[in-house]
Amino acid sequence: MILTFILLYTSFLSTRLLLLPSLPSPSSLVSIVYTTLKDTFITHLFWSSTLLVPLLLTSYPDYLEKIDKSPESRHGLYLGLFTVAVSQIIVIIYHKIHLSLSTTRTYIQKSTHEEYNFVGAVIKHLTNLEGFILLTTYLSLYWISGCMPSSYYTYQPDIPWFRVFASLLITDLIQYIMHRIEHVIPSIYKETHKPHHVYKSPNLFNAFSGSMGDTTFMILIPLFVSSRLIGMNVWGYMTFGSLYSTFLTIIHSEISHSWDPYFKAWGLGTPEMHHYHHRFFDGNYGHLFVYWDWVGKTSEGYRSEKRKLK
Ligand SMILES: [Zn+2]
Ligand SMILES: [Zn+2]
Repeated sequence: MILTFILLYTSFLSTRLLLLPSLPSPSSLVSIVYTTLKDTFITHLFWSSTLLVPLLLTSYPDYLEKIDKSPESRHGLYLGLFTVAVSQIIVIIYHKIHLSLSTTRTYIQKSTHEEYNFVGAVIKHLTNLEGFILLTTYLSLYWISGCMPSSYYTYQPDIPWFRVFASLLITDLIQYIMHRIEHVIPSIYKETHKPHHVYKSPNLFNAFSGSMGDTTFMILIPLFVSSRLIGMNVWGYMTFGSLYSTFLTIIHSEISHSWDPYFKAWGLGTPEMHHYHHRFFDGNYGHLFVYWDWVGKTSEGYRSEKRKLK
């Protein structure tokens, strides 16, 4: 934990320094060092909390001895669903604290932001048929039918980080392609993605609001294809599920996060990037990464700041 904190801090600080147009004065350097430390603390606390279940369980080999590891056991399925549930609870608590306590919160689209009932939004977010209910049904059927690649039913006590990253990258590529298809073919757009685009200035809880067709087209198909392409064990799938669902949720946030400037520099998804898509409708089709938009030349307007969010 301490090592990852130091690594994250070093990466954040060097990113921040590299982005400066000129060498900082001693007083502004002190301010940068302090602000970056604060950003690192919040970022580390948030992301490690969302990954609490796989991080904790892989640290306790005794636990692994006790569980039924046979392919027929549903233990891995329950662990996966529990992990995503815990990470969503962390996201909700974080967002509530962020909205309530932050004196420096920055709205992504200040002029068009609409206040909403927090509790009502949480309930809708968690109970939308096209959201977690459809995702849970898909994962349960896929797991129980035994159709997942055999590696997903294995429990080696480690998190395969490279495979998790590769899987996030591939899932985002397929999601990017499906998203563009939805936007290009009017009949598909109308039947699937249009309900999600009623939100021109979304909030965090609009992430999984859309239609069953949209979730199937843009989430379930990418998840299915990437699971066939990249195998990983139960802990990898739990980590992937947590990161994927957390990312999709927080890029809809109405306020910016401490990690946004660094993630933006690294080509990772941010609320500003995704709000641009909701507002202007014709670019930034990626969700977790910006790389596929760079390849497809669909983030030109955003990068050149041709149009700005207000
Ligand atoms: Zn769209
Ligand atoms: Zn969206």
